[in-house]
Amino acid sequence: MKSVAIAGNPNCGKTSLFNNITGANYHVANYPGVTVEKKEAKIKHNGEEFVIVDLPGTYSLSPYSLEEKVARDYVVNEKPDVIINVLDASNLERNLYMFVQFMEMGAPVMAALNMVDVAKLRKINIDIKALGEKLNVPVIETVARENKGTKELLDEVAKFGASQKKSSPLDISYGPDIDEVLVKMETKIKDAGFMTAKYLPRWVALKYLENDEQIVSEGAETGGVHHELSAMAEKLNSHIKTTQKTTAENLIADYRYGYISSILKSVVSHEDSPLDRLYLSDRIDQVLTNKVLGPMIMLGFLYLIYEFTFWASEYPVMWLESLFGWLGGVADAGMSEGLLKSLVTSGIIDGVGGVLGFAPLILFMFFAIAFLEDSGYMARTAYMLDRVFRIFGLQGNSVVSYIVSGGIAGGCAVPGVMAARTIKGEKERLITILTAPFMPCGAKLPVYALLIKAFFPENEAGAMLGITLLSWLLALSIARILGTFFVKEPDSAFVMELPPYRMPTLKGLTIHAWERCWMYVRKAGTVILAISILLWAMMTFPQLSEKQLEVYENQRQEIAAQLDPAVVEEGSSDAEEVSAPAQEYRDLIAEVDAREAGDGLANSLAGRLGKSFEPVTQFAGFDWRTNIALIAGIAAKEVVVASLGTAYSLGEVDPEETDSLADKLVKSGWTTANAISLLVFTMLYSPCFVTVVAIRKETGSTKWAMFSLVVYTLVAFIASIAAFQILS
Ligand code: GDP
Ligand code: MG
Repeated sequence: MKSVAIAGNPNCGKTSLFNNITGANYHVANYPGVTVEKKEAKIKHNGEEFVIVDLPGTYSLSPYSLEEKVARDYVVNEKPDVIINVLDASNLERNLYMFVQFMEMGAPVMAALNMVDVAKLRKINIDIKALGEKLNVPVIETVARENKGTKELLDEVAKFGASQKKSSPLDISYGPDIDEVLVKMETKIKDAGFMTAKYLPRWVALKYLENDEQIVSEGAETGGVHHELSAMAEKLNSHIKTTQKTTAENLIADYRYGYISSILKSVVSHEDSPLDRLYLSDRIDQVLTNKVLGPMIMLGFLYLIYEFTFWASEYPVMWLESLFGWLGGVADAGMSEGLLKSLVTSGIIDGVGGVLGFAPLILFMFFAIAFLEDSGYMARTAYMLDRVFRIFGLQGNSVVSYIVSGGIAGGCAVPGVMAARTIKGEKERLITILTAPFMPCGAKLPVYALLIKAFFPENEAGAMLGITLLSWLLALSIARILGTFFVKEPDSAFVMELPPYRMPTLKGLTIHAWERCWMYVRKAGTVILAISILLWAMMTFPQLSEKQLEVYENQRQEIAAQLDPAVVEEGSSDAEEVSAPAQEYRDLIAEVDAREAGDGLANSLAGRLGKSFEPVTQFAGFDWRTNIALIAGIAAKEVVVASLGTAYSLGEVDPEETDSLADKLVKSGWTTANAISLLVFTMLYSPCFVTVVAIRKETGSTKWAMFSLVVYTLVAFIASIAAFQILS
């Protein structure tokens, strides 16, 4: 016999509906151990028997009241086959809160949309078909007071109860702070099998974050990972308290309402909705998510962010560059000629310094992004882009992956690839995983910033906006191409959470921006430093042979022999200002030195490797130095800048020059065509090593990991050749 529970808010018409279904032929008892009334009845519908239970009316399933506790315990312990959530159509927003909580539990819930007569009277139009699609469950209209819709409801209950796969649990995104911890907790719970016999792992994690007394004390009795979970929840809560002045529980509730309000946006319309009846957030949304104005405002914001980032970071970046230039000068003057000096000046200072120099830019970019996230606007961006994404065979959740990966410049593809877990369709998920790494992540940012600084200094924000848009366009086009091979129908039940707007706090923004910027700096000081040293070694060894060195020494002596010894002596002195002939002598010697350095670099292991690719890569405008940088960039994209820094420093004409790398590139004959070709290549080629590993892990397939490594590099190469050939 199938069991059916009727649940809903107080006064939504549960008892009326229960009486309609049972013909008022019920039996009243109390729920075990408490004095809450339990009405129960057996009925027959189309020959099938059901037990119907009327649950106590509650607004939520957070067990603050006895009724809430009873209702939730009944669902968890008795596991009814079907839950009919009665929704008051005239008050949908509040009524759907409980529904969302049922969905989060993974309970087999469907909806009876009651009081539709009242809704009609109040001129509230509800698109019931769209509501069913968005909620992804059957929805039946009823007017319980007039016994309307009862039969249809029972037919649907029978069908729903018999279906194998009723509904999949709802995974809402609760914003970046919570999502990150939630996933970690979920994995911990799953691995430990902690209370998983009774509850879904994600739900348990959520209850710990909400500090749900009942579940937490049940967890304390169970032992296991209880203490770890509590500690994680506490840490997150204090983080949220300092950054957003609220609690995880409140934020989670906000996102639930956000989810609901985004459903209602496309389902409910008021025939006469004077603006003053709407909440402030809804009023703001009327403008910010408007079909026409919204995207324009979005682009405007993006441009402003880049404008702000480049404007605010201009001087700090310059100061850091001079600091590293000065450091290089000090090391150059203070250390004796030799390998150690070369390692310190060319390997470390010019390599890692190039990456660290962009730290202020990263900091301000993250500050701006934190503003979008904390204010709630980021969610609107995803909401608007959902429509665009459908055209390309993706869905709204893919937007989240893209944005986490650096959609607004400055994310990371590793969490982006992992965020694709929430995507329901297997194939859309795969395509999202494979295309999210095209976003301008924080590691590509210094590469872009370097090229922008060198070649588009007049309009930095515009160039960055162009790079971002081009990245999206390429990612979506590739998604479309992949889609024609793999995807059939996009999932239509996607809903993006629209939490209410909040005024971000300066403290919150600063902490969020600093946390991520610190990760960038730490990476530069550890991983990037190690790779830079390795690359320096590869660019230094093997050194030129005695015989080759002799050739240059002879050339220098020949030059000296042809000149007046007094001029040679003056030119070799430490004096800054010398006479014209002595300066000419200096220039001639410097030319020989440069040839020697250049040959030394070309002769090194990395140089030979870079050279071996040059016959092909020259068509894309990449010389062997760029080749070295790009190959090294597969380890981590920041390394592209670091190894260009080292390569151009090792082969430098005047090692005492404190030019920034951007200036060096321009001076050594790079053109806009070279720059754009390198931009396109960086955008498209293989994801960094860690991302490739993440792709392998998330798709469970080595084939796709290799695909991203090899095929994307080929595609990038073809695109760069096209770009370079056309532009030059
Ligand atoms: P419960 O608290 O959820 O059990 O709700 P009840 O069944 O006790 O109903 C609360 C009130 O709403 C009663 O006065 C009902 O007559 C009324 N009611 C129930 N369903 C409808 C409906 O569909 N339309 C209208 N207009 N009133 C209804
Ligand atoms: Mg009642």
